Amino acid sequence: MGALGIGARGTESGVIIRAARQSTNRLQGFPPLALLRTGEKTINNPVIIPRDQHIITRAQISENALKVLNRLKDAGCASLLVGGCVRDLMLGREPKDFDVVTDARPEQIRKLFHNARVIGRRFRLVHVRFGRDIIEVATFRAIPRDISEEALSMEEEAVTGEDEHNTPADVFDHNVFGSQEEDALRRDFTVNALYYDIHDFSVIDYVGGVPDLKGGILRVIGDPEARYREDPVRMLRAVRFAAKLGFKLEDKTAAPIRQLAPLLASVSPARMFEEVLKLFHGGYALETYELLRHYGLFQYLFPLTEKSLEHEEGGFPVTLVPRALANTDARVNDNKPVTPAFLFAAMLWEPVREQMGEYILRGMNGHDAMFRAADYVLREQLRHVTIPKRFSVPMREIWSMQGRLDRRAGQQAFRLFEHKRFRAAYDFLLLRVEIGEADQALADWWTRFQTVGENDRRAMVTDIAPSGTGGKRRRRRRRRSPSGQAPSHG
Ligand code: ATP
Ligand code: MG
Repeated sequence: MGALGIGARGTESGVIIRAARQSTNRLQGFPPLALLRTGEKTINNPVIIPRDQHIITRAQISENALKVLNRLKDAGCASLLVGGCVRDLMLGREPKDFDVVTDARPEQIRKLFHNARVIGRRFRLVHVRFGRDIIEVATFRAIPRDISEEALSMEEEAVTGEDEHNTPADVFDHNVFGSQEEDALRRDFTVNALYYDIHDFSVIDYVGGVPDLKGGILRVIGDPEARYREDPVRMLRAVRFAAKLGFKLEDKTAAPIRQLAPLLASVSPARMFEEVLKLFHGGYALETYELLRHYGLFQYLFPLTEKSLEHEEGGFPVTLVPRALANTDARVNDNKPVTPAFLFAAMLWEPVREQMGEYILRGMNGHDAMFRAADYVLREQLRHVTIPKRFSVPMREIWSMQGRLDRRAGQQAFRLFEHKRFRAAYDFLLLRVEIGEADQALADWWTRFQTVGENDRRAMVTDIAPSGTGGKRRRRRRRRSPSGQAPSHG
């Protein structure tokens, strides 16, 4: 029982996991996964919570998900919701999406739906499409027998989109697919491993997820250190769910994180990009950021930013990042759009500013210094986290427009205003104002510029000096004007 790290928490007797899958010589170098030590193969019977003893009702499940669940059920297959959606429903929250699992194989599933396609290479899944809504249907997965396999599977999940080169279906099926128990045990946290069965509307819990949900506890399934070693992204996920759910990391789940954080360096930058978006665009970015810093994880996502945070620790802390994240959270919670370009612009702004300062000290002009600093920071960042061009280009525009926002004379303000990145650059300016890095007067000027009509805009522009904030120039004009066409008071 103790082998699983879950036996001690009071569920009933054990069952035997099929031993056949483990009798391969690949086992010799590796434990079959932290969950199962060779020789100890018992797991707990699931706890089944009948429909009248939990709060999930079909009314809360999307129509499309119900269609998929019922079709699978009618075909005589296992048919369950699993993962985040069950967790969220049990907490009375609205799920982001609905994931379905079954014992049917991908090809079988596809044949049940006219609007379905098989995706993925080794871990083939089926996407059932209803207009823009996609319901993902997975086959119960086995516990991978070695670490490299698990890591690979996660990489694939993160970066595989459409798949052209389908591996012959049966080649991997034997290794890849498993029982429902195994499917539960290979998941990351107890609260993420609950099932909702459409056959009898019960909730099925193999791992003590329900008591953890009630206790507000995030707990790794199995041995935390081993599970983080298998897939270091789980450390980021731990922090993400703790922030999102307001849960506490259970002691053993939290304990190894600081020490194992460097393992994140081995995760592909493409997968890290996906994770960064989940971390900071989920509506809980600020809490997530604080936890990431607390557990020493942040430096593996944004090493240059971490360094600039340290520089400032003695005097003024760098506050742009938390401001930007609070802002992002507010937008997400208001259902306003957010873009990775803005997120990365904010995250990397301080390093860019510092680097720019150095180039200027070496005699470079401001414009060139900005471009060179952006190059440098982006290059460094890409070693850790991919930023696709479609986001890094606008990110750089947001940066380079910061200098231009101050130069408003002649046609400059109008040109800037028409730039497709103007709004983002303006929002970014507001952030800089909030932390005292840019002039309130400048922001006010742009705020007004956007609200008034064409004639007033022209007047605003003629009112400012060729460079600078315009105050002085205005006074000068006033003083001069009586000698010109100003009406006399006589
Ligand atoms: P969210 O609400 O953010 O989507 P989620 O729990 O649904 O949360 P997903 O990333 O969508 O998270 O993953 C779906 C499920 O797949 C998880 O609930 C978990 O059971 C399993 N899972 C995902 N990633 C991992 C991983 N790295 N290791 C183990 N299990 C994982
Ligand atoms: Mg999900």
